[in-house]
Amino acid sequence: MERTYIKDLNLKVGQEVSINGWVDIRRDQGKLIFLDFRDVTGKVQGVILPNATAAHEVGFTLRPEWVVCVKGKVNPRPPKNVQKDKQNGEIELEILEIKVLNEATTPPIDIRGDGKEINEEVRLKYRYQDLRRPRLQKNIINRHKVMLHVRNALAKEGFTEIETPLLSATTPEGSRDYIVPSRLERGSFYSLPQSPQQYKQLLMSSGFEKYFQFARCMRDEDSRGDRQPEFTQMDMEMSFVERKDVMAINEKILIDLVTTLYPNKKIQQIPFPVMSYKEAMEKYGVDKPDIRTDKNDPDLLAFLWVIDWPFFEKDPDTKGWTFTHNPFSSPTPEFMDDLLNQKNIENIFTTQYDIVLNGSEIGGGSIRNHNPEALKAVFKVMGYSEERIEKNFGHMLNALGSGTPPHGGIAWGFDRLMTFLEVEPNIREVIAFPKNGEGRDPMMGAPGKVMDKQLKELGIEIVEEK
Ligand code: ASP
Repeated sequence: MERTYIKDLNLKVGQEVSINGWVDIRRDQGKLIFLDFRDVTGKVQGVILPNATAAHEVGFTLRPEWVVCVKGKVNPRPPKNVQKDKQNGEIELEILEIKVLNEATTPPIDIRGDGKEINEEVRLKYRYQDLRRPRLQKNIINRHKVMLHVRNALAKEGFTEIETPLLSATTPEGSRDYIVPSRLERGSFYSLPQSPQQYKQLLMSSGFEKYFQFARCMRDEDSRGDRQPEFTQMDMEMSFVERKDVMAINEKILIDLVTTLYPNKKIQQIPFPVMSYKEAMEKYGVDKPDIRTDKNDPDLLAFLWVIDWPFFEKDPDTKGWTFTHNPFSSPTPEFMDDLLNQKNIENIFTTQYDIVLNGSEIGGGSIRNHNPEALKAVFKVMGYSEERIEKNFGHMLNALGSGTPPHGGIAWGFDRLMTFLEVEPNIREVIAFPKNGEGRDPMMGAPGKVMDKQLKELGIEIVEEK
């Protein structure tokens, strides 16, 4: 018999069906055995009546998380047992036959509740089971829906999704790179991307005009609250645009996404308010103000653009100038001459725009320097020698000089956006296989030691810390 998904059982009242799934709970009530079954589409209550002898025998052996194929008849529930608000609350599956497809060991953690009270280390060690809980199933499936929505929206706007390499050279985003040793070129290393910044700009040089990608980014930072060593950005770049154009299309997609997929949520203000960095600091004392009018309402989304950021700040270690956001940004037009002449540095604004949601930065981007001299000037302000600029960014300068259109883009911190949409306290709840607070994966045992042979091939010796 063809499989029926649990969500469709209420369409088959009076019919015999076959379902596949997991035993969620078993309750014995005298001669009756009640079994809740679960598949990816939901739950249903089943009952084995005393006269179903064969099913009865198997029914007694079933334990939570066993995988079964169940044949039965969909019956309406007696009126006094109807649960109107519950999925399949008006029906019950009268179990006729049960086939065990796989047994299960006793689950190390309870997966029926929301799991927030369970030690996170244990949840992550048994993540494949932790992910069975309805809350995480919902989060991961909704993450997919949001991705799909954004993909389709961007495709409709003429964007092309293009993958860029993971094994690459360093690109400065203000963090430490993860590096990967090369076996073929001993002593050389790839860097894992902190973002696809350079590649997406090079794609503008290549004439694709509108690029996007759900990009994995890796930053080797000390564990700080809600950070992961790898995370996902919705990364985009567009040619022939100004700041207002990039802001407008992102705003449109965010509004459309919320109204379509999260109709219960309310966006506080449309169009999104725009505030200067200076105003944010003066009024709120932070560069990502939470402007919600009601902070108790988790369904209120207060988006805010923050613009007119200082381009440079003093590096506390070197005491020289460094960039506040992105070295590839262009200054706002009125400061272009100052940048080219490397003067008035402390007052130069970058074209950077950050998008803030309920007091958290969920994205940021800028219009870039498409003139090679301007990009060079940025690195000069930061004290880079001609030689270093040529060595690290020669390809960017050459590309900009090869006929690159004006361009700009943005990246959303996709995991963080999902935490707001799903009302979760941290990004680990919306990532299928996150690392723990120390950057470890307790399930896979990563990071871990490698074999001596592998180290030898790479020409690497481990020096134990004293
Ligand atoms: N690459 C930038 C970042 O990761 C985003 C952008 O400017 O597009 O923050």
